[in-house]
Amino acid sequence: MRVQVAIIGAGPSGLLLGQLLHRAGIDAIILERKSGDYVLGRIRAGVLEQGAVDLLDEAGVGQRLHAEGLVHGGLELCFDGERHRIDMAGLTGGKHVTVYGQTEVTRDLMDARAAAGATTVYEAEDVSIHGFDTDSPLVRYRKNGVDHEIACDFIAGCDGFHGVCRESLPANAVKHYERVYPFGWLGILADVPPVSHELIYVNHPRGFALCSMRSRTRSRYYVQVPLDERIENWPDERFWEELKRRLDTQAAATIVTGPSIEKSIAPLRSYVAEPMRFGRLLLAGDAAHIVPPTGAKGLNLAASDVRYLSRALIDHYRSGSMKEIDAYSGKCLRRVWKAVRFSWWMTSMLHRFPDTGEFGQKIQETELAYLVGSEAASTSLAENYVGLPFED
Ligand SMILES: Cc1cc2nc3c(=O)[nH]c(=O)nc-3n(C[C@H](O)[C@H](O)[C@H](O)COP(=O)(O)OP(=O)(O)OC[C@H]3O[C@@H](n4cnc5c(N)ncnc54)[C@H](O)[C@@H]3O)c2cc1C
Repeated sequence: MRVQVAIIGAGPSGLLLGQLLHRAGIDAIILERKSGDYVLGRIRAGVLEQGAVDLLDEAGVGQRLHAEGLVHGGLELCFDGERHRIDMAGLTGGKHVTVYGQTEVTRDLMDARAAAGATTVYEAEDVSIHGFDTDSPLVRYRKNGVDHEIACDFIAGCDGFHGVCRESLPANAVKHYERVYPFGWLGILADVPPVSHELIYVNHPRGFALCSMRSRTRSRYYVQVPLDERIENWPDERFWEELKRRLDTQAAATIVTGPSIEKSIAPLRSYVAEPMRFGRLLLAGDAAHIVPPTGAKGLNLAASDVRYLSRALIDHYRSGSMKEIDAYSGKCLRRVWKAVRFSWWMTSMLHRFPDTGEFGQKIQETELAYLVGSEAASTSLAENYVGLPFED
């Protein structure tokens, strides 16, 4: 079999790239090692920058997002027992974010792909990539016990942090930058109305908390926990009790609790692989970088890589030029590092670290007080949160 682009991974990066290429008349196949249901069942991100929303519109899958997504023009920071609103829209000339779950983005993209009759091979086993440093790359995989081979012009490595693409690179071809944080987020999803119509980021001496949501009737709440914490130790009642202790009095009194429909612990990590292109292999999304979810940037960065990658491939097939392909890694990484910095900064300011102590707590609260009291500082947070501009 031969295609123009072989995409590895059917997460948001791979599906969005596939859809944009399909609309541009570029022939692409997606290989995914899990089943479609498994991919849809993963509860992850939920806050979309305007740039990601625009790209989903461009891919022709924005209809449900606009009907059901919640537009947020602000967020709240809670520290020293009080909440303070950052007016993101007011500080950025009207920009906002949209709350719409990654699961829904994935579902919309899967539906569009099925309607277009484009091929996604789910449960593709032992995917391997070859010859990406030549002009004739190959992808091999097995499905239902039968071996397959795909010849292509380019391989898009959209296979997440634990994928095969980055792992296939020679060790000396890639530089890794990494910070692992000494805590995780215990998150629950519950069919209860959100405690506030905007997100609340909480700095508390007992640890960080976040009140988020997926819809007007479905809430997503998190508390910071030690890395070695076990989910079995957290029955719902304990979770709600701990969350309330970290909230301000009013939120703690009004929050609606209920049985969790999902509960998990996520480790926090900052990671970047450089460069993001090796010959005819181009990495996108979590395959190349990870951020802690504090700045809500993971999914948005995946979309921004796909924006650059789709444009580069479309330009190549229209003009025959490699100019945009050559520019891909540099363009992505300049934006990636800004989001890595922002996510690290939000994480550092809001979490309790092993060495935070009373002094560190005071410094964090003072930084937060400065942030909410200074228009310059609030604007810096707001413009990063809604999403920094693209290069083109
Ligand atoms: C638990 C968790 C919670 C998160 N919460 C947030 C959040 O609150 N906010 C936020 O902004 N971001 C969050 N993120 C990050 C966000 O979900 C990711 O940035 C986003 O999913 C990246 O999309 P992707 O398509 O690049 O990678 P992925 O979504 O990881 O998709 C990669 C796909 O490739 C497939 N794959 C892997 N290996 C192979 C292989 N060998 N062969 C074929 N297919 C393969 C995988 O099965 C997967 O479907 C979270 C991530 C995790 C893990």
